[in-house]
Amino acid sequence: MPAPDTASTLATPGQRITELDTPQLLIDLDAVDGNVRFLLAEGRRRGVRVRVHFKSLKCTGLARYLAAAGPDGFVCAKLNEAEALADAGITDLLLANQLVGPHKLRRAARLARRSDLTVCVDDIDNARALSAAAVTEGTTIRILVEVDIGMARCGVAIGAAAVDLARAVAELPGLRFRGLQGYDGHLQMIPDYDDRKAQSLAGADALVGTRRRIEQTGLPVAVVTGGGTGTWEFVASVPGVTEIQPGSFVVMDAAYHRVRPEFARALSVLTTVVSRRPGRYVLDAGSKAISRDFGTPEVKGRAGDRVDRLNEEHTIVEVSGDGPSVGDCVEVWPTHCCATMNLHRTCVGVRAGKVEAVWPIECSGRYD
Ligand code: PLP
Repeated sequence: MPAPDTASTLATPGQRITELDTPQLLIDLDAVDGNVRFLLAEGRRRGVRVRVHFKSLKCTGLARYLAAAGPDGFVCAKLNEAEALADAGITDLLLANQLVGPHKLRRAARLARRSDLTVCVDDIDNARALSAAAVTEGTTIRILVEVDIGMARCGVAIGAAAVDLARAVAELPGLRFRGLQGYDGHLQMIPDYDDRKAQSLAGADALVGTRRRIEQTGLPVAVVTGGGTGTWEFVASVPGVTEIQPGSFVVMDAAYHRVRPEFARALSVLTTVVSRRPGRYVLDAGSKAISRDFGTPEVKGRAGDRVDRLNEEHTIVEVSGDGPSVGDCVEVWPTHCCATMNLHRTCVGVRAGKVEAVWPIECSGRYD
């Protein structure tokens, strides 16, 4: 079978954005630099570590680009993300998730042999299985006990349950208890700043209260981590929190920008207008290239235009008055950056209208 003719669709460094085939996932590197510089400086000022969540990136080229700015390690949601980062030479890794089943535990233990891996647990039997896997591989895995501070996803209850699990983990061979994880994911997009702040502070206070209870038993707690793009500053302000773990702030999206306008929208999908009728135009990328799980995207630089809907390979935009013509390029800001990164195989780092880097998104579409 002849190889598909993709040569002309691949971006190359030095090309102008206007020369690119579409759709193409663009990352504005000046905007990324500003977002990362701001949050790292704010973290330092507040005395907390800033660990960047890699689930928003899924691309080790971008992670290595950020690593130069000096974040305090990365967070991962899945093992494949942590393995990809380790392969790329980034080894301070928090897997902020539960790893269950023999395949995952063996992989985690092997990864711990070549990285500084921390894993979350919320179940003593799972912790025992992880301990056995670590002993078999002759390694040590650092552990955070995950506490449910209101999100109702994973995590043990605040207080006694967390204290008991922490003490039990500390006794297990092959594991080293390090502290607590508590993520307030249910609060990230609350539009009202004061409401988001009050609820986030309450969650972080409860997490730190649990820290104190563990310490009262004589067990040291080195790490208390949580927070995301929507709540980072509240979590960071609570004494006893040591680390924040936001991810979306790096490339941002239209939904987060409504609650966090201080971060620039660096991620866009470059598209071409393929059809034009009175009152509407149609783009050559749809829901297979632009996640719509937090709503429809926004058109960059054309605030008056309104995305009506996405089909699989088309986005239909309503316009009053003059709009772009067939063949014109239009960028859209997705409403969910993490899920959009997950739809593409490559992303294009751009600066001042030109391609600076073309990176594979190694972990997109992987769930292992
Ligand atoms: N920490 C955990 C465990 C998460 O699941 C998430 C998001 O899903 C985050 C932190 C923060 O990510 P973001 O800044 O993208 O909201």
